[in-house]
Amino acid sequence: MEVKKTTIPAEYWKAITECDAAYDETFFYGVTTTGIFCRPSYKSRVPNQENVRIFKNAYIALEEKFRPCKRCKPDGLHLSAEEWVEQIVEWIDQHYIKPLTLHTLADISDGSPYHLQRLFKRVRGLSPTEYIQQVRLEKAIHGLETTGQSIADIGTAVGFSNTPYFIRLSGENTLIFKYVKGAAQYEVGG
Ligand SMILES: [Zn+2]
Repeated sequence: MEVKKTTIPAEYWKAITECDAAYDETFFYGVTTTGIFCRPSYKSRVPNQENVRIFKNAYIALEEKFRPCKRCKPDGLHLSAEEWVEQIVEWIDQHYIKPLTLHTLADISDGSPYHLQRLFKRVRGLSPTEYIQQVRLEKAIHGLETTGQSIADIGTAVGFSNTPYFIRLSGENTLIFKYVKGAAQYEVGG
């Protein structure tokens, strides 16, 4: 299993060391040496910070093979896998213009790139990067249909950082449609 570099927000670390119940609805933390995850309020011995992992919900912790602590029972699923993925989808829908990578998404959603990729694909039927490209292509088509802008300008406007790639991908409008039609197999009822 990959090792994610530990970066714990100071605020969260403080909550753990002070057993602050105010954070119980915000995150859980797992300790890699025990494989157990707890609520911030649980009065455990303060773990070694480098062994601590932060989880935004129990689902991710369970996915990463941590077990819920039997004492503080951090097993209420704050978010289901579907809700978690839908939050990421909404975030992509608002940020598709920016350069996005799997690691960007993993950072904003507090998941590992590996689990994000797997869960996203399970829930949506396509990978996060495929989804991002699909959103950009849909916006590009809309731009081509509704504005007089060139393909290159539209490509930049919808977040394709590499315009030559976009042009090669799309060629004429018909080729964009062709590509999107191919991608449409991922859409429900599409
Ligand atoms: Zn606990």
